[in-house]
Amino acid sequence: MFFMQIASQNRLDYTGQSLSLPAGGVERGPKEGAMLIVMKPQASEEDIRRVCQRIEALGYRAHAMPGAQRTAIGITGNKGPLEPEEFESLAGVAEAIPVSKPYKLVSREVKNEDSQVRVGPAEGGVTIGGRQLAIIAGPCAVESREQALAAAEHVRKAGARLFRAGAFKPRTSPYSFQGMGEEGLKILAEVRRQFGLFIVTETIDPENCDLVEEYADVLQVGARNMQNFSLLKRVGRSKKPVLLKRGMSATLEEFLMAAEYVLSEGNYNVILCERGVRTFADHTRNTLDLSVIPAVKLLSHLPIIVDPSHGTGKRDKVIPLARAAIAVGADGLIVEVHPEPERALSDGYQSLYPEQFESLMEQVTAIAGVLGRTVEGKRKEVGSRK
Ligand code: PEP
Ligand code: MN
Repeated sequence: MFFMQIASQNRLDYTGQSLSLPAGGVERGPKEGAMLIVMKPQASEEDIRRVCQRIEALGYRAHAMPGAQRTAIGITGNKGPLEPEEFESLAGVAEAIPVSKPYKLVSREVKNEDSQVRVGPAEGGVTIGGRQLAIIAGPCAVESREQALAAAEHVRKAGARLFRAGAFKPRTSPYSFQGMGEEGLKILAEVRRQFGLFIVTETIDPENCDLVEEYADVLQVGARNMQNFSLLKRVGRSKKPVLLKRGMSATLEEFLMAAEYVLSEGNYNVILCERGVRTFADHTRNTLDLSVIPAVKLLSHLPIIVDPSHGTGKRDKVIPLARAAIAVGADGLIVEVHPEPERALSDGYQSLYPEQFESLMEQVTAIAGVLGRTVEGKRKEVGSRK
């Protein structure tokens, strides 16, 4: 019960901000003796480097996570418990504390401030996880050059800055449309050139990732692949941000553990996505679990967005759930929009018409204003559309 004591004293909160941990969440204690080194606020770069070197000399991996006031260094790769004394004597170290959660790097115990994920260049890119909401929109799949460019034109006009469309589609049936492959990726590159939209597209396995990575601005890992561990490790070695969708029957812990795979390989740019889970309800394709948003916010510093399209599977429910997602604290949305949904090769029944997407943007901008947030790429005034 040592760890419960630590949590109740809030010693894990290295930034000095209050961090509340859910009852029960700390009971298990560290399974693998995970350790977090908290540096003193005045620790130098050299101190931090030396601690990382020490960790690596012991055969473990060091993850320095700079915070607003001090740096924390997570240790992964250890098989058994670590001795705090091993590190506490090093220059600049404030304390070495065991991490109580099975996930470490995604946890607020390691980094209390919200993470912001940058997409595209420092100048002119988009940030996901800040005050601005990121809206990703586009068709389920790239179906043709004309279809993708038409969709992109609508999406850009409505004010979104990120374009979604799959070139590789992991379909439930092997006989369904599987995507256009590399040809689709080339069309997405054209969308980026013509409209300045950043491209979010799915990678379906580690081999396929080499190709998708060349074209994508954000690598999407789909619900069906949330526990494809070799894919998670592969995107963890990528320089591109990762959009990780929740598996359709994944618990919150499994979801965060999947993200942990990506961070543990060195890629800290992960955006989580709630896309609905399977329940007995049959009035929707999935049940959109909006309560997971505040639950994630409590436990993790990672941004989380919502997919009301797959989350409901029905066009008429997409806008209401998009509004709710923003109200509940999501950092953005990923929405399917198609120039002609009735002709879509996949997910047409849940794709918005372009005018509906414009309306969604207006409504979401209004709700964002109530929360003191704005929509990335969108003018602040509501109703500015002629
Ligand atoms: C998609 O985004 O088109 C998709 C296949 O989503 P999911 O992995 O959430 O089912
Ligand atoms: Mn889809």
